[in-house]
Formats: sequence, C-alpha cells, structure tokens
Amino acid sequence: MRLNAALLLSLSISIIEVLAAHSVVRRMTDDNLAHGGECGTPYTLKDDEIMKTAFERVERERKQQKRQVNLNPIVFDLHVAVVAANMTYNGGWVPAKHIEDQVKVLNAGYLDAGVSFDLKSVRRILSRRYHDLLNVPETDEQAIMLSNYGKAFRLGDVKTLNVNLIGFTTDPETYGFALPPSFYAEFPEYDGAYIRFDSLPGGASPVRQGSTLIHEVGHWLSLWHTFQNGCEGFGDEISDTPAEAGPATGCPETRDSCPLQPGLDPVWSYMDYSAEGCRVRFSPMQIDRMRTAIDAFRS
Ligand SMILES: [Zn+2]
Repeated sequence: MRLNAALLLSLSISIIEVLAAHSVVRRMTDDNLAHGGECGTPYTLKDDEIMKTAFERVERERKQQKRQVNLNPIVFDLHVAVVAANMTYNGGWVPAKHIEDQVKVLNAGYLDAGVSFDLKSVRRILSRRYHDLLNVPETDEQAIMLSNYGKAFRLGDVKTLNVNLIGFTTDPETYGFALPPSFYAEFPEYDGAYIRFDSLPGGASPVRQGSTLIHEVGHWLSLWHTFQNGCEGFGDEISDTPAEAGPATGCPETRDSCPLQPGLDPVWSYMDYSAEGCRVRFSPMQIDRMRTAIDAFRS
C-alpha cells in the first residue's frame, strides 16, 4: 500500500513537471521573432504584455507622486556558478581571475544606470550534462533540465542575479540567454543569466570578452534586442534606439538598415550583436526602462 502511494506520488510529480515544462515551452515559442544567432533570449508576447502592464502601473504611480525615474544607486547580490564538464579550461573550469574581471566589466557597463553587482559566491559544479546541454527552454526536455538545474542551484530571490557559466557545446553559435523579469512570478527557478564560459574577459572566445554578460543582464532587466520587430511597429519599445532591420555584425557605425525611419542603426548599444568594443553603452531610455523594471519586478 505504502509502495503504491509512493508510486502515485512520484507519477503525479512527474506529470506536474511535464505540464509545467510544457507551459514554459509554449510561452517561449508563442512569438519567437528575431530570436537566434548569438543570443538565445526569446521575445515572447506574454512577457511583453506583462511588462507593459507593470510599467504603466509604475509610471502612473510616479506621475501621481510627481517623481522622476529613480536613479539612486542599487546593488544586486551576484552568485556565479561555474558549470564545468571537467576540471580543464576547455571543459569550462574558468580561472578565478576571469570571473573577477567579468564582474568589473559588468559593473562598468551598468555604471550609468546606477546599478551594480556585488559578488557573493562562486561555486563550481561538475556536470558534463549541464555544461553541454543547458539551453533556452524550447523543448520539454530542455525546460525540465533547466528547471531541475535551477531548483538545485539557484540562490536568493528576485533581487539576486545568478550567472551560470556553461558550454552550449551542442549549440556553438549561442553565447547566452536570460529570461525577462516578468518570468519570475510563475517560474522563479528559470531566473538568471546563462553565458558561455569562454566569453569572459581573458577567455578563449575570439569574438567576446565580457560584453555577453552585460547584454544578457540587459534582458534580465527587461530590455529586448535593438533589432526587435525590425523596421516596423514598436521595435524594441525604446524611443532613442533607432529602428534596425536585423542584428549588426562588426561595427557598421553608419549603417541605416531602416532608411524610412529616423536615425542610424544603434550598433553602439549593448543590446545589438555588434562587435566587442563597438557595443559600448545603453541609451538613456534603455536605462529608464531597466530602472522602471527594477521598480516593477526586482525591488
Ligand atoms: Zn540577447
């Protein structure tokens, strides 16, 4: 009898797990515009809608209280997990110096936003499976794996940044992803930034030396890609990043991929795919949106 009860319990847990994973996958794939390439962060209609509603509420409160956007310094706790396949650099076992330098580069990137990150812990997790296979939850298997990983290893609450250094071994084009703050209420275990271990300053990547994490934390704080929705409609919902038809590569500073819209492509923004040393800042309105998202979701 006891055995049957245990069996029933474990069966119902796995059914719940699969249903939850399936609803994550549905949300991830409901409108995956402009997803792919270097960053795996998906644009989802549901998250866009949740964020718009929350931002309108924060802005209404601000108007009532005659307040400006809050730019007072804010510090987030930061936990880094090194998820390595083995204890070699190529297996993801990154030197402590790379992590220290990455935190410096991250904080420099967020200086203008008044946001900083205080490194509280570095943990080293040996798992070839997680190192190789953790990825954007676009299939049930990926969602279950990411959820199990997050339940086991994620630290802190909605105000805590968890950075996970992984390999994307079976998906070498991808450098990182992070789920938007609107995702946390329903699926907290998925929260955090996942980046390739060799994209850190001093790392082996020939293309990235630290800006991948700045970019992914931009998603963690609500930003979409500068090329979101191409030349049409609301774009990335930021008025001072001109519309852009698609991601930039290299540093095409005079590129104007949406000639019927004002402004040259915002290749200078961390939220584009332009080269290291070319994407170097956030626009004032990107900073306003991140600070509004902090008020709405992460404070
Ligand atoms: Zn991205």
